[in-house]
Amino acid sequence: MNRIDTGIIDAAGLARDTADACDVAVIGSGAGGAVVAKELAEGGLRVLIVEEGGYHPVHRDLAHEAIGRMYRDAGITATLGHPMIPVPMGRCVGGTTTINSGTCFRTPEHVLVRWRGEFGVTDLATERMARLFARVEQELHVEPADLAVMSRPNTLTGELLDRAGLRGAALRRNTHGCEGCGMCCYGCTSGGKKAMPASYLPKALKAGARLYMNARVIRIRRGCGNAVLGLEAAAGANRLTIHAPIVIVACGTMLTPCLLRDNGIARGNPHLGRHLTIHPASKVVGEFDERIDSWSGIPQAYSYDGLHDDGIMFEGITMPPDLGGAAVPFTGEHLAHYIKNYAHMAPFGFLISDTAEGRMRRLPFAGYRFFYSLTPTDVRRIKRAICFLARLFLDGGAIRTYAMINSRNNVFSDRADVDRFDRTELRAKDIEAMAFHPLGTCRMAGTPSRGVCDAHQQVFDTPGLYLCDGSVVPTPLGVNPQETIMALATRLAEHLLGKTLGPAE
Ligand SMILES: Cc1cc2nc3c(=O)[nH]c(=O)nc-3n(C[C@H](O)[C@H](O)[C@H](O)COP(=O)(O)OP(=O)(O)OC[C@H]3O[C@@H](n4cnc5c(N)ncnc54)[C@H](O)[C@@H]3O)c2cc1C
Ligand code: SF4
Repeated sequence: MNRIDTGIIDAAGLARDTADACDVAVIGSGAGGAVVAKELAEGGLRVLIVEEGGYHPVHRDLAHEAIGRMYRDAGITATLGHPMIPVPMGRCVGGTTTINSGTCFRTPEHVLVRWRGEFGVTDLATERMARLFARVEQELHVEPADLAVMSRPNTLTGELLDRAGLRGAALRRNTHGCEGCGMCCYGCTSGGKKAMPASYLPKALKAGARLYMNARVIRIRRGCGNAVLGLEAAAGANRLTIHAPIVIVACGTMLTPCLLRDNGIARGNPHLGRHLTIHPASKVVGEFDERIDSWSGIPQAYSYDGLHDDGIMFEGITMPPDLGGAAVPFTGEHLAHYIKNYAHMAPFGFLISDTAEGRMRRLPFAGYRFFYSLTPTDVRRIKRAICFLARLFLDGGAIRTYAMINSRNNVFSDRADVDRFDRTELRAKDIEAMAFHPLGTCRMAGTPSRGVCDAHQQVFDTPGLYLCDGSVVPTPLGVNPQETIMALATRLAEHLLGKTLGPAE
């Protein structure tokens, strides 16, 4: 069930312009696209999936090699503003799930309450969502991270939290047989991570769906009354045309609004390409006497949510040695020491629920870019998270800690250093952040005055065109989003099939 190579058509190898037809065409094979495709195919519909990237089965590449092959633009996608924030994305079969950490969270209830009240997405009743989450979790084999194969920064942080009288928890992950090789974000080396190519996609293909890879959709065809007729994709030197009365766009938060705008869809809707939130993330690194070897074991396995009320969530994060020295704001002696002693470095990460919102712009000669700057509230939250982790590590015996800040004041040897940092003004542009969870650029809402698509994810005034990815998520979640996106995809499948989906088989 894990191998799907035989069910995939390489569109780059098509000898001529090709036409195909189906009931539902799905653009993108990530968290949204793969899930809705599988559910619809099992529901008896003829489904075609079109994916821009290629298929990269289990491999043993180094991290930087995998990034070159599986990440969009070799991993250098970013928002522009204060600061500039890298937002990496997958461009491969399975989308970003193929290169993600595997952490699974249900949508927090207070977020669902907000979507029901503020955005008019009324059919998100707690019981219904619980059933959808349970179905997704069964398909993905969601389980608590195994202590035996956690990386040391995760177990160490757990021990330090315990010692401080605080309660952390093992994260829940979509894995089965995880070997703790530490390469989740570069494609899993064992197939233990149940990303889309090892969970939903094989089932979709078994149920009769077909997947064209290496085909980039450029046109959404529409006819009378703006109703959808199908799509066109660039496939090598040729063109792939698919006739379908329903098209589901699942290109991801940063790509879906671009495809809509290029096609003149939702023209004039003030929400298209706006309201981008990203969960800005950063880390603190503790240097310890003991050997940490952070790259060995599950990178993201443990969490602490004690500051969740302030929009801060702590989660493990590690980097393999070939990337470790590239992702830190140090120079000279500090950088040399950091790299030389990398085996003794224990990083731990955090993300914040952002209050900032970004927006898409089309620039002459540069195409679409997203502009996004942190608000003072976001900066305060990031500073609070840095101080919390730095104090936790130093109290727990760290020789020193490193904050990802572009300033001389970014290495703390004792609590007094942290207190000094805490008292100093932190400028947004000095923060070295990354973001992994873009959301909201085509948000769903009860009316076009609030969103781009309706509560069932159909684009207003475009019959047959549905959106199914992070772009429809109306607000930040405060937790990792893949399970939310998958639950909404399952909900969309129920809507299109006109029936309730029971427990997974
Ligand atoms: C390094 C990293 C780690 C992460 N870790 C976690 C985690 O542990 N837990 C979690 O919940 N979330 C995590 N995320 C985020 C999560 O993976 C994403 O939120 C989720 O995959 C988004 O799903 P999506 O359907 O919106 O888009 P994607 O999964 O990105 O899928 C979109 C797909 O559409 C394709 N596409 C785009 N345009 C076109 C086009 N024109 N034609 C054809 N195909 C197209 C893309 O190539 C891509 O394959 C992580 C993200 C990153 C980058
Ligand atoms: S730690 Fe290794 S085996 Fe486990 S899910 Fe990540 S990549 Fe796969």
